[in-house]
Amino acid sequence: MLRVAVVGSGPSGVYTAQALVQQTAVPGIRVDVLDRLPCPYGLVRYGVAPDHEKIKSLQGNLRTVLEDERVAFLGDVEVGAHGLTPARLLELYHAVVYCVGAARDRKLGVPGEDLAGSFSATEFVSWYSAHPDAVHDGFGLDGPGAVVVGAGNVAVDVARVLVRRAEELRPTDVPQDALAALAASGVREVHMVARRGPAQAKFTTKELRELGALPDTRVLVDPAELALDPAYADPSGLPAVNRRNLEVVRGWAAAPADGAAAAGRGIRLRFFLRPVEILGEAGRVTGVRFERTAPDGTGGVRGTGRYEEIPAGLVLRAVGYTGALLPGLPFDPAHGTVPHAAGRVLRDGEPSPGEYVAGWIKRGPTGVIGTNRPCAKETATSLLADAPALARRPVADDPVAALRALGHRPVEWRGWLAIERAEAALGSSLGRDRVKIPDWAGLRDAAREATG
Ligand code: NAP
Repeated sequence: MLRVAVVGSGPSGVYTAQALVQQTAVPGIRVDVLDRLPCPYGLVRYGVAPDHEKIKSLQGNLRTVLEDERVAFLGDVEVGAHGLTPARLLELYHAVVYCVGAARDRKLGVPGEDLAGSFSATEFVSWYSAHPDAVHDGFGLDGPGAVVVGAGNVAVDVARVLVRRAEELRPTDVPQDALAALAASGVREVHMVARRGPAQAKFTTKELRELGALPDTRVLVDPAELALDPAYADPSGLPAVNRRNLEVVRGWAAAPADGAAAAGRGIRLRFFLRPVEILGEAGRVTGVRFERTAPDGTGGVRGTGRYEEIPAGLVLRAVGYTGALLPGLPFDPAHGTVPHAAGRVLRDGEPSPGEYVAGWIKRGPTGVIGTNRPCAKETATSLLADAPALARRPVADDPVAALRALGHRPVEWRGWLAIERAEAALGSSLGRDRVKIPDWAGLRDAAREATG
């Protein structure tokens, strides 16, 4: 038997487990999927926006894998805690695949970033996703203005949630406190600001288009800012996604502006503005100062020395993620990833026997959920090719008992099912469908009620 630990139960971890057990060349593989949270599914549970039910429903596919008899879920097991180092894991399993994502958000590196009312999009997403590490004291939702810095899908997600009405979010599993705060929000206008042009924006067209379909919300684009982009005049050389994005923003720019007043809320897409300072008064955000940029002819931008200020009581930076160092594993700080060759972890340039990576910690924080499937497959293929040598390494007879001996109290699958039941019960007590439990104690209590 070959015992494999997959660290992380998000899409890359679960797709890796699936690729390992759904093959016939190497029989007898058992996979334990470890997660530091008591709940599975990673960013599908704690990153995908609550109103994206279709993407959320991918949990059903991931669930089928975690319920496979050759796969076991072990939640609330943090690598790095209770002496569970990467070296110790290798004594428990023949192979370990790290699928730990890219957990840190990038900073802007401008003055004022730490003012009250300035947050990373990750903090905001964690809050409305009921992540147990999220800050619980709410956000500066007094309004009327909010600035979202960045032009990727996370920026689109947070801008959309900011203008959604409570009745649209109520049927989702958004936690009750966040729902109440969003219902009372005074935010009426969200400025989503890109430092480059519309042809270089990172969002995907489906997500972009959705902004235009929000009830009572106008999307506003200044045609003069579109015209600054040389690709706007002749988009023929652009990748299809950028061409489609341009078509969408072109449509919004052409729409008459007089409807703006009639619509209750607005999202303003701004281009060629880079943040130079978060402005504040008495320790609180009052707006953002931007420098107008211009295309530099190579796809980048240069400053123009002209500035513009956008007033706002809330600033969310949605400028991407980066991987975090996991003590005991090699790390490439320049890329925020673990060095690897086809998924094999490299130590001093050489493959480290039994250690693998997949997902964002392998390739960086890019792509959609489905991108993780081929990525996981490549890693699983490397591991399976190494299987004969890996199987010769002596490992613990019972890794779960060894984890318990170290002081971990794994939440197994039936514990997760108990959390699901508790969330359904919480929802029904609030007259809603399932509502997420937002804190560690609540999750652990729910899991352990079932399992002791
Ligand atoms: P992203 O796609 O890399 O976008 C980051 C944005 O931040 C870019 O517009 C980037 O501009 C900008 N940026 C970076 N540094 C900046 C700075 N110092 N000042 C101003 N702007 C800056 O990252 P993301 O939005 O976090 O998304 C991460 C991944 O998750 C993506 O692959 C995304 O598609 C995926 N995702 C998908 C969905 C979905 O499918 N619905 C939802 C959420 C996330 P430049 O291009 O100029 O660098």
